[in-house]
Amino acid sequence: MKIICIGRNFADHAKELKNDLPTEPLFFLKPDTALLRDNEPFYYPNFSKEIHYECEVVIKICKVGKNIQKKFAHKYYEQLTLGIDFTARDIQQQCKEKGLPWERAKAFEHSAPLSNTFIDKNTIDLNQLEFKLLKNNIEVQHGNTKDWIFDVDTIIAYVSQYMTLKTGDLIFTGTPKGVGPVEIGDKLEGYIGELQLFNFEIK
Ligand code: MG
Repeated sequence: MKIICIGRNFADHAKELKNDLPTEPLFFLKPDTALLRDNEPFYYPNFSKEIHYECEVVIKICKVGKNIQKKFAHKYYEQLTLGIDFTARDIQQQCKEKGLPWERAKAFEHSAPLSNTFIDKNTIDLNQLEFKLLKNNIEVQHGNTKDWIFDVDTIIAYVSQYMTLKTGDLIFTGTPKGVGPVEIGDKLEGYIGELQLFNFEIK
């Protein structure tokens, strides 16, 4: 399986990192080894001094497709959850300045913590879904999917022009404003609505 991540999908987050708003979806990949499950702790890597959290709604692809038309895209996902797109912001900044790829900043081991609990899309309104991240019991991010620049159907249609989507692939849909650093000892909790979806520590 592969992990597809959308960048700059909330205008308020693009602004806080001083990025222009995208005119088409921006995406990058993480390998399956980026996954961190079961609320296992995240071990702070020694190659970065600035690991940032980015809390994101995650869509699970439920059937194989390529060149999917937007009007049929809803058939390709049934479940969603919450995860974190951990980012080595210091490395990403160096990569951006030099025009280099982002993998070292984004695709590292356990850079994609993911809840074990999936929510049926028919039980929620994906067009206005609230989610939040707490760090050490204090809310640091609060997003609503109504503020997505590109919705899931648009993303699926766009990405599937370039690569086949397969069952089990995951799409991280982008983070709202409020990204920031984690430190050893921090505790991160993610919620969709009032439902806690992950709760783990930085070690
Ligand atoms: Mg992100």
